[in-house]
Amino acid sequence: MIRGILLFFVVLVAYSALKILFRSAIRGYHEDDRRRRAVQGEEMVQDPECRTYVVKSRAVTRRINGKLCSFCSEACAQQYEVKRRT
Ligand SMILES: [Zn+2]
Repeated sequence: MIRGILLFFVVLVAYSALKILFRSAIRGYHEDDRRRRAVQGEEMVQDPECRTYVVKSRAVTRRINGKLCSFCSEACAQQYEVKRRT
């Protein structure tokens, strides 16, 4: 009888621990989703080198001839800079 009660408590504790773990996992997922949506709402800029659109906060920015340019990657920025110089 005592063993039965003990087992019941162990199960109860395990269950509540799992529930807390599960809840925090769901919260983490929702926060991730919100972050993703914020990125989608961000301003897009065009890479003058390869003409692809990139999210402004993730773009590689360079000041070329006094003008701020945004690129998809470091490689594109370098390529564009070389072109401007020659
Ligand atoms: Zn590019």
